[in-house]
Amino acid sequence: MNLNHVEICRGLTSNNFAQSLVAQLDRKGSLSPKQEYWVEKLANESIVAKVPATNAVTGLDRVNDIFDDAALNLKYPKIVIQFADGTDLKLSLAGPKSRYHGAVQLTDGRPFGENQYFGRVENGELILTRDGGARAVELESILRSMSTDLGTFAKMHGQKFGNCCFCRKELTAGPSLNAGYGPICADKYSLPWGEDVAPEAAKVMRPWARSVDAQVAYDEGADITDGASDDEK
Ligand SMILES: [Zn+2]
Repeated sequence: MNLNHVEICRGLTSNNFAQSLVAQLDRKGSLSPKQEYWVEKLANESIVAKVPATNAVTGLDRVNDIFDDAALNLKYPKIVIQFADGTDLKLSLAGPKSRYHGAVQLTDGRPFGENQYFGRVENGELILTRDGGARAVELESILRSMSTDLGTFAKMHGQKFGNCCFCRKELTAGPSLNAGYGPICADKYSLPWGEDVAPEAAKVMRPWARSVDAQVAYDEGADITDGASDDEK
């Protein structure tokens, strides 16, 4: 049994059941498996309930690094994925006009003023609003897997939804479907591309590559029109 969890239960002074479990442990030196189960359950519920308010979520520096690096190649780097309930989650870099300049902003991607603002990642720390707090566990999980391996993260998204999580372009060419993102975004976000693509297959990519201009226009236009990169707060 996790002793931290025992201490968490000890701190639940208004919960008579938790107090009874701790008192029995103190008296007898051990608990039945069923009682231990309840200690874990009460402690875990307590931890989850406290995440938005007290437990700092840190160690997400890689999320900031991904956007800082991409900003060397792109004016408005962004990643758009979905929560389990289908709500969009858009990550974008706060521009110089934002009070959180340099932070990675987390919204539902709708235009400023109508959007939900979940919070931001700043110097590796996840800072949540009330909307974000309601999704704290899922947000942390998403950001951690993104930090661990962006390529695999993007691949899983692309193969599940059939579009690239960076530019939202539909994945149609075989190599892109296989990778889960296109060659342009692979380049902009420093992701692996082409090791498994034969030269002949690479030539097939030409029609896709011809849409670079369209993609860039889309990327920049989308952010200019909704102002999301600069004006969220
Ligand atoms: Zn893309």
